[in-house]
This record gives sequence, C-alpha cells and structure tokens, in this order.
Amino acid sequence: MAGLTAAREIKKKEKEVTAQQYAFLSGRLVKLEDAKISVMTHAFNYGTGVFEGLRGYYNPEREQLYVFRPRDHFQRMEQNCKILKIKLPASVDGLCAMTIELLRANRCREDIYIRPIAFKSARRIGVRIDSEDDFTLFAVPLHQYLAKDRPISACISSWRRVEDNAIPPRAKICGAYVNSALASAEARDNGFDEAIILNDDGHVSEAAAMNIFLVKRGCLITPPVTDNILEGITRATIIELAAFELGLETEERPIDRTELYSADEIFLCGTGVEIASVGSVDRRPIGDGQTGELTRRIRKLYDDAVRGRLEKYMGWLMPVY
Ligand code: PMP
Repeated sequence: MAGLTAAREIKKKEKEVTAQQYAFLSGRLVKLEDAKISVMTHAFNYGTGVFEGLRGYYNPEREQLYVFRPRDHFQRMEQNCKILKIKLPASVDGLCAMTIELLRANRCREDIYIRPIAFKSARRIGVRIDSEDDFTLFAVPLHQYLAKDRPISACISSWRRVEDNAIPPRAKICGAYVNSALASAEARDNGFDEAIILNDDGHVSEAAAMNIFLVKRGCLITPPVTDNILEGITRATIIELAAFELGLETEERPIDRTELYSADEIFLCGTGVEIASVGSVDRRPIGDGQTGELTRRIRKLYDDAVRGRLEKYMGWLMPVY
C-alpha cells in the first residue's frame, strides 16, 4: 500500500512538472503536454529521426545554467541529418538560441537533459523517405543517470552492434536505438548494470549509449571512430582533457574482447552518464574491482569542466541567463 501511495505521489509530481514545462514543436513553443505528433508520423512508424542529448549544469553560486558544448552537439546533428536527408529548421547558432529560449521559458534552475529530435514527418504508409521534416526540442531534469558511488558491472552483449552499412551508429538515428535497447535490457535481465557491444568482427564498439575507454599500463585506449561507435562529445572531451591536463595521448585502435578482462581500469562515458567506472566485465573484476586512479582523475577534470570550474574550458559552456 505504502509503495502504491509513493508511486501515485511520483506520478502526480511528474504531471505537475510536465504541466509547467514547454517544448518546441514545428517551430512553436508549446506546453510540453500539448507537444504531440500523429500516430501516422513516418518517424514513429519507421524510426526515421535523428536525435541529440545535451546537458545543462546549474551553478547555484553564479545562479547560472551552463549548457555543455551545444555547438558541437548541433554540428553533429547537422552532419547526421544529411545522412537521413532531414532539413533542420535553423543553423547551429539558431538551434543554440532556441535552446536558450526553451530553458528560459521553463525557468530551469537545476541540472537538466536537453533532447532535440529532427524527424521525417510525412503521414503515410511506406518506408520511402521524402522531404517532409519536423523538429522538436524538450528538456527534463536529470541529475545522476547511473550510480556514481560504486563501479558498475558490465557484460558482453549477445547482441552485435548495428553496422555503418546497415543503420549507421554515428548518425544517432532513432531506429538504431532498438539495438541499444535490446543489449541494455538483456544486461539488466541477467543482473548486470550495462552491456558492452561487439561489432560483427568481434571488436569492442561501445556500450548501449556510452563510449568506452580502457586503461592499460598507464595508456588510455578507445575504439576508433570507424568501429561503429557514436563519435561521442564526452569521448572527444576526455581525449582533450587527458592530452592537455594529464599529458596523456589516447590510443584509438580496435580492441579485442579479452583486452577488457585484463584491463587495469575501464570507464564508460556519455553526456547522460558522464563518466562511469566499470568494476567488472562478465563477472571478472577489472583491476581490484574499485574505481581506478586515472578514472578518478579524469572524472574530476570532466566534472570541473562541465560545471565551469576550469577557466580554460569556459568556451565549452553556453550560459542560459
Ligand atoms: N554512444 C552512444 C550509442 C550514445 O547514444 C551516446 C550518447 N549520446 C554516446 C555514445 C555518448 O555520446 P556523447 O558523449 O556525445 O553523449
């Protein structure tokens, strides 16, 4: 009974939050609860959309909300939309301005997640891609995505990664996330926190919605962009921070499955999860099973950069207020 009451309370709260929030849809700012599309929409039927995920970090001392690397996210979206032949409603600068307008309308004063989706909007049956496009942008509060206080357990998925010549993972296409969802659900059903997905050739690609890094004998290693990964902005940020703050070059090369088992440290990274240390893979402890020293240092640098504590990297942040 107590559980039911708590669940009802959460639902009520979610409803209240949603009722006060706005979203962009078809070029207009509308109430989030009114931001609806037809069941006939092409993207809903066939997964023909391209999306992004950005984060905003609230700094209470400066009473400022900073969006992390928005230009890089929207530039990636612009490139990805070319693959699906979707026209965006605005330039990269215009999309940044829309984001600011949305967050101001929502009076966001906490850490948030921002989700733009550009999609094929024709209302008809048939997979052919035509030129009707639409765009939506919404934001939801997001604090911690995965447990940060303990390293997570990962497994090698029995599902293989979608391939560039099937559904290109670099394009962040909505339909491609069925692959991630299957891998992630299987991992959780089997008692793991996350899945690591291999390519068809058996090399490591990435986790369901995160890139992967290994530490081996002091070297930082990550799969190359040609190994069916999303070219992550967190991945690029870590490569840059490691080079300039720790003097550590990242080796980008194919990674074998068993290199994971013998790694000294492994961490996953992405906008949502930030940096998650991996304590075990397929029930084999990584290092001593605890968060490694390099993972800890990189996580601290990343946290300082996204929260505006590193003057040198303020250029990555877009203030909202
Ligand atoms: N890989 C996949 C499949 C993802 O969905 C994400 C999340 N966007 C990432 C990696 C991490 O990318 P980013 O650092 O740009 O969020």
